[in-house]
Amino acid sequence: MTIALGDNGAQSKINNRSEPTVPTCPTCSTTKPREAFAVDRSKASGHKSACKLCDAASSRAYDAAHLDARRARQRAAGRRRRA
Ligand SMILES: [Zn+2]
Repeated sequence: MTIALGDNGAQSKINNRSEPTVPTCPTCSTTKPREAFAVDRSKASGHKSACKLCDAASSRAYDAAHLDARRARQRAAGRRRRA
């Protein structure tokens, strides 16, 4: 049995308009302009997935969580240097 595609062959055409996609921050679920997202060249989109506000908040939380380790590292580095 042969399937006739008929006029529906046109449906494979993709609407290729280059409209700017407005990213949504997954952390605060807010759609924001690209300027609200920090640049991250390691990402395919070229921007971080979280907005600058959430990124700052999460890095602040990371800093707080790793503060002890960083202090210990700084202490070790300071010992090596002559004061
Ligand atoms: Zn956000």
